[in-house]
Formats: sequence, C-alpha cells, structure tokens
Amino acid sequence: MISEAMAGASALKTAFDMAKALKDISDATIRNAAVIELQEKILSAQEAQFALVKRVDELEKQVTSFEGKRSQMQRYQLKDYGAGSFAYELKESDANGEPIHRACAACYQQGHVSILQFSHNSNGQDWYDCKQCKNNQHFGARIPYRSHYSGGSDF
Ligand SMILES: [Zn+2]
Repeated sequence: MISEAMAGASALKTAFDMAKALKDISDATIRNAAVIELQEKILSAQEAQFALVKRVDELEKQVTSFEGKRSQMQRYQLKDYGAGSFAYELKESDANGEPIHRACAACYQQGHVSILQFSHNSNGQDWYDCKQCKNNQHFGARIPYRSHYSGGSDF
C-alpha cells in the first residue's frame, strides 16, 4: 500500500513538472508528445489512487470484522469446571436472551467461539464435543468405577 501511494505521488509530481514545462515548448509536435506523456502520468496517478481507495475499503471491512469478533469473544469468560477442566462460558450479563452455554477453550485461544455440545456422562464426568476442532472434552473429576464382581478394583 505504501508503494502504491509512493507511485501515485511520484506520478503526480512528474505530471506537475511536465505541465510547468509545457508553456516553454514552442514546437507543436514536441508539445503534443509532452501532452500525451502528461496524460499517461495523470492516468497512472489515478490508477494508484483507485488501488489505494480499494485497499482502504478492504482494511475498513477487516477492522469492522475484527471488532465484531472481539466484542463477541468478550461475552465469554474462562470457567473452571473442576479438576482442572476449563471452558469459556457465556456471561450472564452478556447473554442477551441466549441460554448460558460453554465454548471450547482451544478454539477460543485460536480466536473464535465454538459452542460445546453435550455428548454424554461417564464416571461422573460430563463429556462435550466441539464441532469446530472435533475435540471430545470431559469436565469435572473422574469418579473411578468400582465393579461389584472384582472386589472393588478400578477400571
Ligand atoms: Zn474446539
């Protein structure tokens, strides 16, 4: 983008210098050639300006997208679900009518919110699936299963 701006400014400066010199050219053929060259310089300055306007528009859209994403992410806070199992949870104050839910911590760290879906409960732990990163995550402490048949050994 800097190079486009420099090219545009350089083309304009050249065009300005050429326009100043035009008045001193008495030969019509040389003057016409200079006018054509001047028009080319003006056109290339316009092209550089169009490229800049397009780039500014793209960057403005990116900024808007980043701001939207950031404010969406700020609606969540990290929560400990026990035994060192963490997820992000929608803040009550930012719920705006949505049910409170969990978001994948790994995906959140990558910069996007992915809602965790309950899968099942096993040995006292709730298991959730992340549809984004395909992780199957457990929350809470595992309660060891004790068999009635093997004298209480853990599985
Ligand atoms: Zn995930």
